[in-house]
Amino acid sequence: MGVSPSSGGERQILPPLPVLEGLTAQFYHWCSQSQLRFQRCKGCGRWRHIPRVACPQCGSLEWEWALSGGRGRLFTWTVVARPMHPAFAQEVPYVVAIIELEEGVRLITRLVDCPPEALQVGMSVEVTFVEAGEGVILPFFRPAT
Ligand code: ZN
Repeated sequence: MGVSPSSGGERQILPPLPVLEGLTAQFYHWCSQSQLRFQRCKGCGRWRHIPRVACPQCGSLEWEWALSGGRGRLFTWTVVARPMHPAFAQEVPYVVAIIELEEGVRLITRLVDCPPEALQVGMSVEVTFVEAGEGVILPFFRPAT
């Protein structure tokens, strides 16, 4: 568990952050540029996530970081009422969701700016980039405007 100084001399508990190495570091680098990019296979054109070396569809090792439109639909979710980490103690209840992007990939993320009772399967959502700590930017989602 990391801590970082915050204004006022208090110490803020950091949430668990992604380990920035390899292809994962590249994915979050694009997020830090406010770009949601996924790997797209140059062999068959299929988008994929989580980042990996080979295409699970055709086995090709050729791919690119393709820019997603950042829009999708709510596939499923859960409402977290009990913080499993002290960094989230002030955030409960919050929504952990699986979003299906228009490009076909699914992403486990947070859904924000929406009360849990307003959630509906299939609702339109869009990406919003949120700083999680130590400069790491995460792609969260919110109801589409
Ligand atoms: Zn492929």
